[in-house]
Amino acid sequence: MSKQIQAIRGMNDCLPEQSGLWQWVEQNIRDTVKSYGYQEIRTPIVESTDLFKRSIGEVTDIVEKEMYTFEDRNGDSLTLRPEGTASTVRAGNEHGLLYNQQQRLWYMGPMFRHERPQKGRYRQFHQFGVETFGLPGPDIDVEVILLTARLWQKFGLSDKVHLEINSLGSSESRAEYRDALVAYLKQHEDKLDEDSKRRMSTNPLRVLDSKNPEVQALLPDAPDLLDYIDDESRQHFDLLCERLAQAGIQYRVNSRLVRGLDYYNRTVFEWVTDALGAQGTVCAGGRYDGLVEQLGGKATPAVGFAMGLERLVLLLESLQLVELPAEVDVYLSLLGDRAEAYGLTLAESLRDALPGLRVQTHCGGGNLKKQMKRADKSGAAIALVIGEEEVNQAVVGVKYLREDKPQTQVSIEQLPSLLGGALSQNL
Ligand code: ATP
Ligand code: MG
Repeated sequence: MSKQIQAIRGMNDCLPEQSGLWQWVEQNIRDTVKSYGYQEIRTPIVESTDLFKRSIGEVTDIVEKEMYTFEDRNGDSLTLRPEGTASTVRAGNEHGLLYNQQQRLWYMGPMFRHERPQKGRYRQFHQFGVETFGLPGPDIDVEVILLTARLWQKFGLSDKVHLEINSLGSSESRAEYRDALVAYLKQHEDKLDEDSKRRMSTNPLRVLDSKNPEVQALLPDAPDLLDYIDDESRQHFDLLCERLAQAGIQYRVNSRLVRGLDYYNRTVFEWVTDALGAQGTVCAGGRYDGLVEQLGGKATPAVGFAMGLERLVLLLESLQLVELPAEVDVYLSLLGDRAEAYGLTLAESLRDALPGLRVQTHCGGGNLKKQMKRADKSGAAIALVIGEEEVNQAVVGVKYLREDKPQTQVSIEQLPSLLGGALSQNL
């Protein structure tokens, strides 16, 4: 036998036993964004490398070391998208969706980052995200947070995640803070690791994000970002907090929350869970009022978030919160040649009569015992049994596989109403 080819490290298959939960998650997401009047945008998976360099920032983890970048046959530098915001803004600018308009958009799909694979961290992973444009006030910040809170509720996760918020202020106030932070870090340079020392000169706010306990220990006495933000950003933040409280959303102000991407200003937020170890952030977002202009459009306020679907699914699996219905309602068991020929058409007419009914037709012959084993394995609630005799009389045998009810026989005409009644909760 020749050697089997394996999937790329950190890139997962979604197997049939997992895809039901994924579909359930995706359907809830689609229903939820619809209920807020958001529209879907789909962008290519590959973009010009410059797009991500210019938006996410040259000295961020993503651009420095996580991107899948390659030259295509024309010699252009292309990158598999590591996130969705940059592409959304690029498409919005390119198609004139952003200037002088309001947009509420969402997307869902695979993203790529070359990270060390571990639980909740993969090289191909999936994000659902929302991006809104043209709305400067904290009202829309609250709306996108409410949308996420509604999702937690649908998923049964409301008491498993908590919200952290902060304000990064304006780029001017952040520059002032940066100087103060660097001055403080310089005094403690001996306790910084190499990464933090490097960041001190390239992207000092990211030091606040360090996972190193020694660096962490320095931070309680470091200057506080919220003491430096400008008056307008302060008002924006105060109103955001007030509106969140009015809406009954609990939150914690975390003045060290900075986020790893350069384009954020003012509001930033994360939804975090304690149930996934180090990979606890399931959703992260914020305001990025400068990005549209930075990518060549007219200045346009914007706010959005991205949710990591693998972490969400892991959380749902570990808590065993979701009970999915079986994939099949009715199993059609066919005994003998004539029944087989008849069965395929009968299954079609049932699907016509009861849209939403999930019928699996037995294929491959075999005796009743073997077919009933298959019927049981399919998860169906009902098996319909058809042999030569049933075809002659235009009837079917009805066996209840999950209930203690006697087997019956009904005419073909009565079958749709019998199935409709028995399976009404699914149809
Ligand atoms: P982290 O600090 O965990 O690396 P991040 O700040 O890089 O996260 P974002 O770029 O804000 O993450 O992406 C938003 C969300 O996407 C994260 O909160 C997480 O749920 C998910 N995510 C990010 N990177 C990965 C990955 N490599 N594998 C799985 N999910 C990821
Ligand atoms: Mg990361």
